[in-house]
Amino acid sequence: MNLLTISSLYVDFPTDDGLVRAVNGVDLSIKVNEVLGLIGESGCGKSVLGLSVMRLLQEDVILKGEILYCGKNLYSIEKDAMRKLRGKEIGVILQNPGSSLNPGLTVGSQIAEPIMLHKKVKGSLAIEMAEKLLGLVKIKEPRKRAKDYPHQYSGGMKERAVIAMGIASEPRFIIADEPTKGLDITVKRKIVKLLRDISEKKTMLIITHDLEVAEKVCNRVAVMYAGELVEIAPAASIFKNPLHPYTRGFFNSLPARGLKPIKGSSPSLIDPPKGCRFHPRCSYCSDRCKTEHPLMLEKNGRAMRCFLYA
Ligand code: SF4
Ligand code: MG
Repeated sequence: MNLLTISSLYVDFPTDDGLVRAVNGVDLSIKVNEVLGLIGESGCGKSVLGLSVMRLLQEDVILKGEILYCGKNLYSIEKDAMRKLRGKEIGVILQNPGSSLNPGLTVGSQIAEPIMLHKKVKGSLAIEMAEKLLGLVKIKEPRKRAKDYPHQYSGGMKERAVIAMGIASEPRFIIADEPTKGLDITVKRKIVKLLRDISEKKTMLIITHDLEVAEKVCNRVAVMYAGELVEIAPAASIFKNPLHPYTRGFFNSLPARGLKPIKGSSPSLIDPPKGCRFHPRCSYCSDRCKTEHPLMLEKNGRAMRCFLYA
């Protein structure tokens, strides 16, 4: 059963230079208990896709298509109902813990807030639950550290605190955007392990450009390029055998896999290349790729947008 179904999603941002189409016709679903990783370079539209699901886009953004959560269209429910759903059923772990945490409030009270709001628990009990959550995300001396302000936490501890906030209301579905961004390697490993523990019992969408996160935590991986999905496959097979030329190039460009950058740069989303959006950078480009837009096709449990596999 699908918990989330995204169909024909288009998201346009008005800018002074014209409309930026950040998401161009995305179809994607996440099954109950599945952990889906959405990967791609920065600017490919993956965060915008995440924000669309949370219904946290700016007011002037034009969104077309449908996002169903448990069969309910997220864009046809009242704003207030959406706010309740987000936080209670849909836990949000946003990128940049520095800005997700309020510098003027103790960490414990910030984690207690969603508990009081969504679980209707009184203050003192909520604080106790917040301390337990800090222990769960492996903050040492949680009772003491709950009384600290964010600036007294290291980067890794802030990220843990943001994760604790995201899971505080015991949501069914969690969206995490770049949960390991800016963390050093040892801290990152610990966050990966934490996400892995959480993912055992949850349905998750993890947006990341970090392959280690995708590989260690996700069941399935979707690769995004220039606003479109180009490959979707089980995590086990995509890391062993990436098929789409962009996926391969992206993997090879990462520090862990050789740091070989893909030639050229990501295209403008105001006036993207005709045909296959990746064609100006693809070493397998044929004449057809320059004029015809490849569709996403499914074969042997994997989906691909490339004429090589059509
Ligand atoms: Fe490369 Fe053509 Fe495939 Fe696009 S469709 S990725 S240009 S081979
Ligand atoms: Mg992003």
